[in-house]
Amino acid sequence: MTSYVFTFGGGVTHADPRAKDKTVVGGKGANLAEMAGIGLPVPPGFTITTEECVRYLAEGGDFSDSLKAEVAEALAHIERSVGKQFGDPADPLLVSVRSGARVSMPGMMDTVLNLGLNDQTVQGLAASSGDARFAWDSYRRFIHMYSDVVLGLDHHLFEDALEIAKEDAGYYADVEMQAEDWQKIVKEYEGIVQDKLGRPFPQDPQEQLWGAIRAVFDSWDSDRAKVYRRLNDIPGDWGTAVNVQAMVFGNMGETSATGVAFTRDPATGEKAYYGEWLINAQGEDVVAGIRTPQYLTKYSRERAGAKPLSMEEAMPEAYAELAAVFELLEQHYREMQDIEFTVERGKLWMLQTRTGKRTAKAALKMAVDMVGEGLIDEKTAILRVDPMALDQLLHPTLDPDAPRDILAKGLPASPGAASGAIVLDADTAQSHAERGEAVILVRVETSPEDIHGMHAAKGILTARGGMTSHAAVVARGMGRPCVSGAAGLSIDMANRTLRIGNRELKEGDIITLDGTTGDVMAGEVRTIEPELVGDFGVLMDWADRHRRMKVRTNAETPADCRTARQFGAEGIGLCRTEHMFFDDKRIAAVRQMILAEDEAGRRAALAKLLPEQRADFHAIFAVMAGLPVTIRLLDPPLHEFLPHSDAEFAELSDMIGIGVDTLKRRAGELYEFNPMLGHRGCRLGITFPEIYEMQARAIFEAACDVAAASGEAPVPEVMIPLVATRRELEILKGVVDRAAQAVFAEKGRTLHYHVGTMIELPRAALMAGEIAEVGEFFSFGTNDLTQTTLGLSRDDSAKFLNAYVEQGIFARDPFVSLDVDGVGQLVSLAAERGRTTRPDIKLGICGEHGGDPASIAFCEKVGLDYVSASPFRVPIARLAAAQAALR
Ligand code: ADP
Ligand code: MG
Ligand code: MG
Repeated sequence: MTSYVFTFGGGVTHADPRAKDKTVVGGKGANLAEMAGIGLPVPPGFTITTEECVRYLAEGGDFSDSLKAEVAEALAHIERSVGKQFGDPADPLLVSVRSGARVSMPGMMDTVLNLGLNDQTVQGLAASSGDARFAWDSYRRFIHMYSDVVLGLDHHLFEDALEIAKEDAGYYADVEMQAEDWQKIVKEYEGIVQDKLGRPFPQDPQEQLWGAIRAVFDSWDSDRAKVYRRLNDIPGDWGTAVNVQAMVFGNMGETSATGVAFTRDPATGEKAYYGEWLINAQGEDVVAGIRTPQYLTKYSRERAGAKPLSMEEAMPEAYAELAAVFELLEQHYREMQDIEFTVERGKLWMLQTRTGKRTAKAALKMAVDMVGEGLIDEKTAILRVDPMALDQLLHPTLDPDAPRDILAKGLPASPGAASGAIVLDADTAQSHAERGEAVILVRVETSPEDIHGMHAAKGILTARGGMTSHAAVVARGMGRPCVSGAAGLSIDMANRTLRIGNRELKEGDIITLDGTTGDVMAGEVRTIEPELVGDFGVLMDWADRHRRMKVRTNAETPADCRTARQFGAEGIGLCRTEHMFFDDKRIAAVRQMILAEDEAGRRAALAKLLPEQRADFHAIFAVMAGLPVTIRLLDPPLHEFLPHSDAEFAELSDMIGIGVDTLKRRAGELYEFNPMLGHRGCRLGITFPEIYEMQARAIFEAACDVAAASGEAPVPEVMIPLVATRRELEILKGVVDRAAQAVFAEKGRTLHYHVGTMIELPRAALMAGEIAEVGEFFSFGTNDLTQTTLGLSRDDSAKFLNAYVEQGIFARDPFVSLDVDGVGQLVSLAAERGRTTRPDIKLGICGEHGGDPASIAFCEKVGLDYVSASPFRVPIARLAAAQAALR
């Protein structure tokens, strides 16, 4: 028979492991049982399982008889252990009713304390405790909480009534209220309930208990809880447990207290107890801000220069006991704990423990320290740090103590913080930055033409676009903070002003972006610089020792390559060549090439580009000496490079001596209905082989020159994009090979190189066996592969993807985290077929997914040789790859 209820405390031990299983009794219940099991003082109680919650929510209606019977039995267990009866008018047992899902979840029902009080039992409590003030204080707290969370009355009703009563009595603080004052408040509260609901406050303790249990279950489906689950990827079918526990009282006078504590400092990771407490208080008083809590330890009190005594000083005995509990809990869980406790008339009680939340910095320090203390091993330390949290450490962050004047909120598209003057176009960004000014580029959305401005800017803000919009992807790649899709942002280019919410700003005004939270703020907010040494370096070394996959970077400028190397990149997995084409000096030649009438015209323009490209590759090879560099030949549709405005056409016409009309006609011919599926990728190479020939020549000339100069020969990997068939790759490999032979003959030296392809079309994945006959490596271009497999436009899907994630159609945005079930099948199938043909084929991933820990875990499973991530994601990928290997 499965139980619906598990008891804890009061000396019970369960043989059934489900009694301590978080999935069954929730995190709070499991840890209460665990603490009671190792002999810590835990008030006795019981937990109704999450399974019962799921059943109740699915079937609705009344609770089953068997549940009622088990609850009655469990309640009797509490009564026996405490020696009091629930509802006893002379000496009542009171309980708390607490929710507790598998993971701690703000957004669910608030705890109800002091349940079991009514007009009679309150008298009994006053008598048995010898403290009428305490009894009436507890009762008014109970009516207030129960009415709010179970009966659904607005808590302001009660707060306002209390405020008025205090004012009338001439009191300033709650502590001044006497027994009679609380008694009067209770009467008033009961009146409010009668008034609002047309029935009295429930007096029957059983009715109170079941009402609270029902409310906990119902809160699982509250809007607040749903929103929280969506934001944190928590499945809707877990349900919550209900914990019913004997009350202990921190509000029984000066020898009683309540508090919260961490076994180590959650902000810095320092091995020093950290916490807050209040004398003569109950429950959430410490965090509610009604009274200012006091420091737990003498050390932290003195450091803060605070006067009110710490617990260490005011209650040395209870404190010593608490400190011993901290040590025991850390030894037991081998992890930093976040604790709730209460002292009732000098006696310590433990009410909760859980793994404590922490900053990235603290996470690193604690992981490294605990290995030093022998508490955990290296592998555990690696697994304990959330790779994504490292992001916080890699970029300047806002000083948490600085005030923020928030203008708007957008998507946290690229982490880090930046302040600067607003500029509304890329050229202005560049010219102001050249004068040494810090600027924030603000655009409706960005396009490849804005690259130079994005590079010049400290941060980027866009009105439109999602997490994988151009702005987001490029900003992450460059390590620039970016907030995208800021709601309520509109730009007036004519007047060079913008509106954010109801505020009007103009170009030149200072704003601050927090790309980690999506906040847009007025003025400059202080930042603090990242630290990459110390614990960070230690943990990265450990990670490197335990990972199998290599980590490369997606980079195309020497500066980005250098950053990536500093972060530990072991090569370039994707060097996109089109960004190089947008450079100011070259765009005219690029346009001349595109608009040329024939091959001869194109070759003339390409001849101008050759030395420029060679210089690009030379610089990159020099930085990446000794490491593999994958260069993708030209990929985007040509019309992306064309002029737009009449002025630009006129300028181009002057420059290359072709009439504006002819230019416009040629440009019109290049128009495409569906450019992402149009004349792009290797299709450019097939129709204009001279473009790829020039690029290949530039690559090999640069490689030979670097080899000659440094003695260390780079190993270029030439990558052909958007291949669907073996024949495409064969033709283009021919172009590359001929360029290589020609250059080697001219330079009198031969270098190793490889020609391979991106797998970014479903057909390429399916035909991977055949394609591997020609291609020496595959790089999974999972941005396009996701787009082409799902038939979902990367650039247009932001508008509706949210609805898809909200309704659970996708667990996560498939452009952020690889769709393992669908797109993943194509990846593993292509890997397998590729290897069958060519056992030593090199396999990697170069989409945005290469920096996403969940996707990296998948890559490990498929056995890819490397992942490639944007420079600032390289450390994240190193840690995630190690975790994937260890799991
Ligand atoms: P949350 O999950 O929001 O922390 P809790 O159920 O832990 O909610 O409780 C809210 C507050 O009530 C905490 O301060 C807790 O210590 C206190 N509390 C809960 N149960 C009891 C109890 N049986 N006796 C005394 N205080 C309690
Ligand atoms: Mg709690
Ligand atoms: Mg692509």
